[in-house]
Amino acid sequence: MNPSALSTGLSAWGEPPLLTGSQVLTNPLLNKGTAFTDRERDVLGLRGLLPPRVFTLEEQLQRTLTSLRSKSSNIEKYIYLTTLQNRNEVLFYRTVIDHIEEMVPLIYTPTVGEACQKYGAIYTKPRGMFISLRDRGHVAEILRHWPQAGVRLIVVTDGERILGLGDLGALGMGIPVGKLALYTACAGLHPGYTLPITLDVGTDNAELRAGSAYIGLKQPRARGADYDDFIEEFALAVKEVFPKALVQWEDFGNTNAFRVLHNYRHRLPSFNDDIQGTAAVALAGVLGGLRLTGGKLAEQKILFLGAGEAGTGIADLYVAAARDEGLSEAEARLRCWFVDSKGLVVQGRGDTLASHKLPYAHKHAPVATLAEAVKLLKPTALIGVSGMPATFTREIVELMAANNPRPIIFALSNPTSKAECTAEQAYTWSSGRAIFASGSPFPPFELNGVRHVSGQGNNIYIFPGVGLGALVSEAREVTDAMFLSAARTLAGLVQTEDLAMGRVYPSLTKIREVSLKIATAVATAAHDSGLASVPRPDDITEDVRGRMFEPVYREYV
Ligand code: NAD
Repeated sequence: MNPSALSTGLSAWGEPPLLTGSQVLTNPLLNKGTAFTDRERDVLGLRGLLPPRVFTLEEQLQRTLTSLRSKSSNIEKYIYLTTLQNRNEVLFYRTVIDHIEEMVPLIYTPTVGEACQKYGAIYTKPRGMFISLRDRGHVAEILRHWPQAGVRLIVVTDGERILGLGDLGALGMGIPVGKLALYTACAGLHPGYTLPITLDVGTDNAELRAGSAYIGLKQPRARGADYDDFIEEFALAVKEVFPKALVQWEDFGNTNAFRVLHNYRHRLPSFNDDIQGTAAVALAGVLGGLRLTGGKLAEQKILFLGAGEAGTGIADLYVAAARDEGLSEAEARLRCWFVDSKGLVVQGRGDTLASHKLPYAHKHAPVATLAEAVKLLKPTALIGVSGMPATFTREIVELMAANNPRPIIFALSNPTSKAECTAEQAYTWSSGRAIFASGSPFPPFELNGVRHVSGQGNNIYIFPGVGLGALVSEAREVTDAMFLSAARTLAGLVQTEDLAMGRVYPSLTKIREVSLKIATAVATAAHDSGLASVPRPDDITEDVRGRMFEPVYREYV
């Protein structure tokens, strides 16, 4: 029997050729849609499979924007863009890169939160890999099913803490898919080298488990040794199948996130964006804010609402940076205070504190509320990472403004519905003096004739550049020093015009340049610390730039 007929399964209809040009139409990395030239259509056998008019990429982009903008809700736009990504990656990335400010909120926060919640309903075409507890003992074998060889970047979640939305189990797949799209759009990682993975270890979300449309394992989450053994098998399998891959641990619940990070960060190149990426972007925001106030990092007192991955990650990086400014570790820690769901985190509070909170449990009388803590501690900066909306009340913002000429107030919880306060509230209640940033974007706000443009403390400023820098240098580890240099690089890229509007981050329209500079800083740190596995190039910036994927069509014939 002719093997070509066998492989296509169409022998009953005659003998089709094994490979026709039309296969490029169904491969999103190769497909150009209506932009295939007349010559390509002839040579690749595409005549008749496409409408006759040949479009340029620019014309396709305009058509895409018209269709996209005609959709009435963000979730419909998300679905439209996902379908485009599954069909034609060049056009998808051209659209995202050229209209980054419009597209990022659609392909990532805040829309991706809703997309995850509805993932079961909007799921049409698999993207990435689902590896479940049922696959124990076969994880390496399963990774080999991935059609693309030489994966260099894996974003993996277990779906337990999706944004501020909690345990979404297998529905969390929207996050690694979205993050990797941002890697490509913002830092030029070639999409062919990326792999989104969801580790399905069950879900403790009883409502999901009860729903008939749920796409994951309908069982409670594995914990303890069952969980750890599965993660260990996964890590070993990645090392075996994709030995050059960098792993980003994403949206793990905080009972596992710190342990997983610490267990693996020295064993395989990996980092946790929720802890380390958030830390760098928030620290960069504070550094940007200090360019407005003129203060020093080591002089700040930071009060966090929320003592989880984000909050303690930021504090740990602050401590590293403040030590560089001459403080001892103990002095630097004393400048960070936390309020969690049980009040101010202090020694002898009566509950068992998780290990990541212990370094910040200072000697202090118990304090029950955030307002009381602000009154007593008089922080210079207030950072919300609690996932609890409307917790920065008028009283609290007014207290911050009474104690500081320019209070730093960051409401970082995502999505927008979870923000501790809005930009409008922060500016209004502080009489326009707050240096405000948020996790999800807020529109500009005018107060007494002054236009305030708040910054979005989005990890997008950090992780794509860090990942690219680690990948080009083939760093054996991703260190805290690399995140610190990323934060400093980012803060240095905020322009005077940005600061004049109150924005402590560069415009998102500069994101590829930002990622290039951060990647250069990270690769330089890798070479300087002896962690790079490739020879140092003469010009690191040019080396990084040369590897960035540009979404343009190639001529096939
Ligand atoms: P987490 O679950 O690890 O931590 C949440 C913390 O909030 C816990 O310490 C918890 O005790 C505390 N908390 C819960 N309810 C509280 C209450 N009523 N009052 C005070 N504290 C309370 O989560 P995380 O990873 O630290 O993320 C927290 C939030 O930060 C999420 O909404 C997430 O979207 C956001 N975040 C934003 C960015 C960003 O903007 N760049 C990055 C990462 C996380």
